Amino acid sequence: MAYQVGVFNGDYIGPEIMAEALKILDVIAKKHNHQFDLTFLEASGEAFDKYGEHLPQHTLDKAAQCDALLKGPFGGPPEELNHPKWAGVEKGAILPLRKHFNLYTNLRETQVFDALRDLSPIKWDIVRGINVLIVRELTSGIYFGPKNNQVVDGERESSDLEVYRESEIRRIAKKAFEYAQNRNRKVTLVAKSNVLTSSVLWREVTAEVAKDYADVTLDYMHVDNASMQLILNPRQFDVILTNNIFGDILSDEASVLSGSIGLFPSASLGDTTLGLYEPIHGSAPSIAGKNIANPISTILSVALMLRYSFALHEEAASIERAVAEVLSKGHRTVDLVGPGQESANVVGTREMGDLIA
Ligand code: ATP
Ligand code: MG
Repeated sequence: MAYQVGVFNGDYIGPEIMAEALKILDVIAKKHNHQFDLTFLEASGEAFDKYGEHLPQHTLDKAAQCDALLKGPFGGPPEELNHPKWAGVEKGAILPLRKHFNLYTNLRETQVFDALRDLSPIKWDIVRGINVLIVRELTSGIYFGPKNNQVVDGERESSDLEVYRESEIRRIAKKAFEYAQNRNRKVTLVAKSNVLTSSVLWREVTAEVAKDYADVTLDYMHVDNASMQLILNPRQFDVILTNNIFGDILSDEASVLSGSIGLFPSASLGDTTLGLYEPIHGSAPSIAGKNIANPISTILSVALMLRYSFALHEEAASIERAVAEVLSKGHRTVDLVGPGQESANVVGTREMGDLIA
């Protein structure tokens, strides 16, 4: 069977790390006799240069024909954020892409690699063995709610509204419980129900959903406490269920437990098999074009694609094992070299891809 894979190269380090991810996909194809047909899709900086827009209709049309989408990071350097090429990327490409394909479930799993124990800024006793899955709502809430700018009493006033419907909470809550059933059977809902009325709705709806999953424990934590607990005692978490904005912030925080943002993939899923798989980090303009970016986040995105869109579980696991093995042999991209480890076996982006392949 042929799988149709849409590929967004992304900006800056995007094409470099995507090339390594595609190298791995090719190895899987040959080894397991699968066919992956690649369609390269234009968006973000590349599309803006050619068409003056970040997500042209022809890109969406082509993407809709695919079975899964593999994406490099979109975005430009901080010093050029006011340039039209980069200013509109988030609202012009990233958010509409998620919305268009109704990718309301964002999964980010944080785990620590034994081989990288010196890299975590947190004591090893605290992070050893952790595996936290953050299930973040991705197509609603304050990032999509009504926005307003006005002048009140002679001064500027701005607002962003956090809006959630019951059905939007229910569908993501169900996903969190389903994932928990295959893990350690615990869901922690993170919100701020002491001050936010939308958080009260999250609590009510999630408690209703929990009744259908008697084998899973539901816990609740305010977001301020949760961000502290993630550092103090991350092992208490199995699945964290949360809204769009809290999930954005908590998942960056969680990735730090392992030591580098260059390691982690994410999956954005809807009700069909068309998922979107991408690294959690940005386009890292300052290290682009130097063959030093860590491709592991994008390579592990391929593993998630094989698992969640194509149900190729053994193939996905083999990529994850290869990554762990290469790390355990001491190979490091520069972001994985901790203080006092200057004698580590440092390799470039391409070499890391070759080792894993
Ligand atoms: P965004 O707003 O798109 O999330 P950001 O401003 O958070 O972007 P990133 O591009 O994620 O920034 O980069 C944050 C830091 O992490 C930078 O120092 C960057 O060089 C580093 N970094 C990000 N990705 C990688 C990678 N794959 N390999 C090595 N270093 C990386
Ligand atoms: Mg960021």
